[in-house]
Formats: sequence, structure tokens, C-alpha cells
Amino acid sequence: MSHTGRIHSLETFGTVDGPGIRFVLFLQGCALQCRYCHNPDSWDTQAGTLRSVDDILGEIEPYIEYYRRSGGGITVTGGEPTLQAPFVAELFRECKERWGLHTALDSSGFCEPSHANALLNVTDLVLLDLKRMDREGHRELTSQPNDRILTFAKHLSDRGSKMWIRRVLVPGWTDGVDELIGLGRFIGQLRGVAKIEVLPYHRMGVYKWQQLGKTYPLEGIMEPSPAEIERAYRLIDQGIHSAAAE
Ligand code: SF4
Repeated sequence: MSHTGRIHSLETFGTVDGPGIRFVLFLQGCALQCRYCHNPDSWDTQAGTLRSVDDILGEIEPYIEYYRRSGGGITVTGGEPTLQAPFVAELFRECKERWGLHTALDSSGFCEPSHANALLNVTDLVLLDLKRMDREGHRELTSQPNDRILTFAKHLSDRGSKMWIRRVLVPGWTDGVDELIGLGRFIGQLRGVAKIEVLPYHRMGVYKWQQLGKTYPLEGIMEPSPAEIERAYRLIDQGIHSAAAE
């Protein structure tokens, strides 16, 4: 019998979460509470809709040729997908066996490595969000310290997983000089990082906080300019090179 997962939503034509055109599955449940989260309705582990792996495979099947021809595949995101690792592992295994699809896992990395190994065995690419390097700052931003996340990143590096590292750039929160150089230094010590993406903080999820009756915690913070994004890439790069020089 196939596993059942708690699903938040799905998208059949995703273009921003991994290479090519992708089927993007958003899972329900997350243990973090990022101040900039644009899906706060995905936090509750008991909400969402229960659906089986077979059911989701049926949603993917009509679009397989689009995904394959564009060099795309499937991305599972959230919420936090590693909270439902056995479900995602079965889904990825089936996608590979049936159609040879490329599989990507978009994770905060807030996960015990031992819980994710079976899933990582059938994952071609991990999109790993490193939200903030300093421990206390991370707690302030997300409600949790980052020890587990940094350990998970090292685990991915040790096992040779291919990664894209992502940083959401929030002015005043995640864009300090030391912070970005520190991120670069950390990335410089990892193997398997194929790409770094600095993603501009955006306010598109604000209405969801309002709908849930929650106070939006980043009121007054502006979206970063293209020049600020470029500066962030430069500082990260500086950190990577200083790690390489050591
Ligand atoms: S990890 Fe993702 S889903 Fe969870 S709170 Fe942060 S931004 Fe939202």
C-alpha cells in the first residue's frame, strides 16, 4: 500500500524551484516559524489534505513530457518536506522508476540526518535554505537555532549530495557584511554545491498572515533592490574565496 502524505497544495508548471519545468508539491507542516514565511498556513502539521503516493503520481502523469523535455522534474517543498520523509522517498522512487524523472527536495535542513537518508538516496538535488549563520540571529528569525541545519548541510556534503544553497535576503535581518561573508565561508567548506541563489525577500504572503489573524512580523521592511542582491552575491563570494585560501 502506498504512503499517505499531508498536502498543502501543488503546482504543475513550476519554474523557480530547480532546473526546467517542474511539478511542485507543497507539503503541510513546518517546525520553524520564519518571520518572512509566505506560507504560514503550511505550518500546522494537522492541516492540509491526506493524499496517497498513487494519487499524486496520477497528477504528475499528464505532464511528464513537459518535465522531461525541459530538463525539469519534480520538486517537493513545504512546509518542511523532511517531516514526511517516508512519503516523499516513495514518491521520488516511483517517479524515477516509472519515468526517470529528476527529483529535487527543497528543505530548511531542520532535520535529523538519519531520518532523511532513505529519501536522500532517491533525491538528485537538494535546495537548501541557509537562513542565517549566527545562532541567536537564526533563533530570532525562525524561532529555532541553526545547529541542526548546519549539521544537516555537512551531512549532505559528506555523502556527496548535489546542493543549491539559497539565501532569502531580508534587509536588516540577513544581509549584514559579516553574515554574508560567514555564509560564503561556510559554503566554501561544503562539497557538492552546484549553485548559490540569493532570493529577494518579498511581501506576497502578507495577506495569509492577516487571514490567519497573525501580526505580520516584518511590517515596514522593504524588498531589497537588484543592487543589494548583487552586493550579497559579492560578499558571499568573498567568503568562499577566503575559505579556499585557508
Ligand atoms: S522553513 Fe519555509 S515553510 Fe517553514 S516557516 Fe520557514 S519559510 Fe515558512
